[in-house]
Amino acid sequence: AAKHRGRNSVAAYLPSMSETLAQRAEVEGKLRRAVREKTINPYYQPLIDLKTGHLRGFEALARWQIDENRFISPEDFIPMAEDIGLIVELSEQLLRQACLDAMTWPTDITLAFNISPTMMVDHLLGMRIVKVLGETGLNPHRLEIEITETALVRDIDLAAKVIGDLRIAGIKVALDDFGTGYSSLSQLSKFAFDKIKIDRSFIGELETDEKKMNIVRTMVALGKGLGIATTAEGIENPEQLDALKDLGCSFGQGFLFGKAVPADEALAFIRSEENRKSKEA
Ligand code: C2E
Ligand code: MG
Ligand code: MG
Ligand code: MG
Repeated sequence: AAKHRGRNSVAAYLPSMSETLAQRAEVEGKLRRAVREKTINPYYQPLIDLKTGHLRGFEALARWQIDENRFISPEDFIPMAEDIGLIVELSEQLLRQACLDAMTWPTDITLAFNISPTMMVDHLLGMRIVKVLGETGLNPHRLEIEITETALVRDIDLAAKVIGDLRIAGIKVALDDFGTGYSSLSQLSKFAFDKIKIDRSFIGELETDEKKMNIVRTMVALGKGLGIATTAEGIENPEQLDALKDLGCSFGQGFLFGKAVPADEALAFIRSEENRKSKEA
């Protein structure tokens, strides 16, 4: 019927719009159930020390598997969890699981964990994180919390307090997706970070794009000037790796080293790294 009313009338869009709303309601229902049943799990992507080539730690990345070979991206379900008020519960589940997994790793292997923007408005966030560390036994020095730039602009004073709480507890704090957000440089002067993570949009085509090369060179120099280590995200080929090593970037992560894998495969990764290291020595 909508067809007869013409393409541009509001009514013409209604059937598909309600379909989308129904679909969204269905996915939201599934998400509520997944949180209730704890079926969203952290996967682990290796973080490499570019100077030594050794494994430094893992970043926990949330994975929601909806059937045998279908996953919903965290870029979709994290914002949805924020919208429907599930993000605090989901994050706490993920952090607890990630800490328990990290407890099975050698003690020099670190754990990086992402905090979503809406959680930065919670003045108890630092305490919540410290509590999970206490319950799981993970040493705060092994944890690095990643915060995106957009998370910092909502309430600057509160964000500064949360970051301060974390650092006092001995937890490291990284500025994630650096260069993509709003007023990146002013964030660096307002907050104390232990690490800058250069967004992967600057690393793709780095080896052939002179502009990107100059931008990344400047970002690494900026980190050095501030006494903050830099990590490059999204390293996919050896040319990018070589370029980043030449620039003096401290850490790297990307498909060249490995995608995010389940906890048992992360352990296998650690074992094979240990073998490789002992052969080197
Ligand atoms: P992020 O923290 O910047 O994480 C890096 C993203 O880049 C991950 O996507 C990772 O799989 C992807 N990636 C890593 N190396 C490469 C590469 O070489 N090439 C390409 N093309 N991609 C690469 P993922 O897992 O889809 O996560 C997307 C974003 O969702 C994350 O960005 C993070 O902001 C958020 N996220 C993931 N897990 C969590 C979580 O547990 N809590 C919260 N709050 N956010 C999360
Ligand atoms: Mg991250
Ligand atoms: Mg990132
Ligand atoms: Mg990113």
